[in-house]
Amino acid sequence: MAWTYGLLDAMKDPRLQIHNDYDIVVIKDCYPKAEVHFLVLPWKNIPSIKDLTGSHLTIIKRMDLKAREIAREKGGGRKFKFGYHAEPSMKRLHMHVISDDFNSPALKTKKHWNSYTTNFFIPSEKVIKDLESIGRVNLPSTSQSSLYLKTPLKCHKCPYSPGNMPALKLHLAKHTE
Ligand code: AMP
Ligand code: ZN
Repeated sequence: MAWTYGLLDAMKDPRLQIHNDYDIVVIKDCYPKAEVHFLVLPWKNIPSIKDLTGSHLTIIKRMDLKAREIAREKGGGRKFKFGYHAEPSMKRLHMHVISDDFNSPALKTKKHWNSYTTNFFIPSEKVIKDLESIGRVNLPSTSQSSLYLKTPLKCHKCPYSPGNMPALKLHLAKHTE
């Protein structure tokens, strides 16, 4: 589907670019799921996390370093998560750099929530470790990934289990105060 290629246009848009060099680009996520949400992408045509091999370690490590540098520079002291979705919806490999407040009107669904707070979210450190040890990223199966997205809601900072998204959002506000 055409929309799955949307990041290929977005990454070339200077209005969205935070950083641009010979092999990577960092853009603002158009539908940020937290107060600060960037995407780090390689110019090289790597479609997804599933295509990664040991030969990509250099670029993956550069993406990791740049992500952390930008979070320090632009994050206003916020804490961040750095990683990839196990089953991405958009083409071109992209690392999420997302502040852990999850305070955003675009964060609406249980699926959104679980995609950042369960094992559906593959931390950048794990991607690097897997590529170094086995030459690919050890990912959950498609059926396990969809189970992760259906996990009952749970706060990522305390044991509270809200019954629905509005309750979760009210609760998250307490952690960001
Ligand atoms: P994923 O589920 O990992 O494929 O996430 C795709 C991300 O791309 C989501 O966080 C979207 O909000 C974001 N996104 C979708 N379309 C665009 C766009 N045109 N420009 C920037 N970010 C986008
Ligand atoms: Zn909590």
